[in-house]
Amino acid sequence: MTGPVGEWSPFEPATQVVHAGRPPVVAGGPVNPPVELSSLYHQGGGVAYARDSTATWEAFEEAVGVLEGGQAVAFASGMAAIAAVVEGLAVGARIVADRASYQGLRQFLAELGERGRVSVRTADLTDTPAALAACQETLSVPSRSGRTPSPGRADQQLADRPLLWIESPTNPLLGVVDLPALIEGAHRIGMTVAVDNTFATPLRQQPLALGADVVVHSVTKLLAGHSDVVMGVAVAADRSMRDALVRRRSLHGAIPGPFETWLALRGLRTLALRLERAEANAGELAARLSARAGVTEVRYPGLPGSPGHQRAVEQMSGFGTVVSFDVAGGAEQADAVAAATRLITAGTSLGGVETLLERRGRWPGESHLPPGLLRLSAGIEAVEDLWRDLDQALRAAGAR
Ligand SMILES: *Cc1c(COP(=O)(O)O)cnc(C)c1O
Repeated sequence: MTGPVGEWSPFEPATQVVHAGRPPVVAGGPVNPPVELSSLYHQGGGVAYARDSTATWEAFEEAVGVLEGGQAVAFASGMAAIAAVVEGLAVGARIVADRASYQGLRQFLAELGERGRVSVRTADLTDTPAALAACQETLSVPSRSGRTPSPGRADQQLADRPLLWIESPTNPLLGVVDLPALIEGAHRIGMTVAVDNTFATPLRQQPLALGADVVVHSVTKLLAGHSDVVMGVAVAADRSMRDALVRRRSLHGAIPGPFETWLALRGLRTLALRLERAEANAGELAARLSARAGVTEVRYPGLPGSPGHQRAVEQMSGFGTVVSFDVAGGAEQADAVAAATRLITAGTSLGGVETLLERRGRWPGESHLPPGLLRLSAGIEAVEDLWRDLDQALRAAGAR
């Protein structure tokens, strides 16, 4: 059961996630791909050296490519996948990104901007007219590269276009961006569109089907799903974008290890089940937190009253596994809540089978957040156990 993306289209995503990327069916052959531990290959074949490709990556890439409907390129981390897209741009290239996007992306773009490598404009991308205006304004600033788009190599064509970087839902404010409107609007003025799909996963949102040029994931989170591997992936809508990403990976060398890749593929096999359970837990906890004294605001696109709810209903097939909430007592009380949980793990990251809680404002890069904001990544435990733990932690921290 292996082959091009099209062969998988008759199957539901929950089936694709189990079967895509397995070795060809051969009598006596293995059902799973190898952990291919070889840096070199006998000459005369397609691949010569393991910085360019390995059989383990190819299996993982096929599976993710089928799920996202594009061509996947595995990276050493989510940040490495992000960097491959951004570093593919020409010097002075213009980028528009969300003010509220993942802190690693914001820091990365800010540093590149300070060094004059790219020119970055931020906006609230959940505000569609403001987002489109920011895209328009960035085009009125001449590209500092001073180059005109050059035909020829694929990565050069991509390099000269301005880039709109979307994340939806956003980490950790759970903002929902109008993907069809922004993708269409950005394309109309010649921008490339990248979407960080980490929070939604391809089982809940398919940005390439909505027209995006490239999707990135922190595989570390929901795709691998067990908090035991750091990895990333970028998925290109077309061959030239894919080739450009492979070239960046080969030249920058941010490659995943074969064992990490194998673990990520193994984790991916249960994504549909994990997501179903964790999402149900997130929805239930969000609803109970909304009614809990001492909790002032709950951010979760699944809550009917939340600002992104309608948009999420339209462009997602589920609301994801992350809930953010504020406690009345601010930073001090939020720290006390995180310190008082017994079952829920206090720590950063998200998307694993275990429920995590963290006060995001404790990081210097997150000073724009409400200081008492707690980000909860729902795992797959029994929801009553999770609620009992959250409720007792809130009580212990003085939220009654
Ligand atoms: C964690 C995260 C990243 C970065 O991924 P790493 O695997 O940690 O490098 C990028 N985007 C989002 C939305 C994330 O949550």
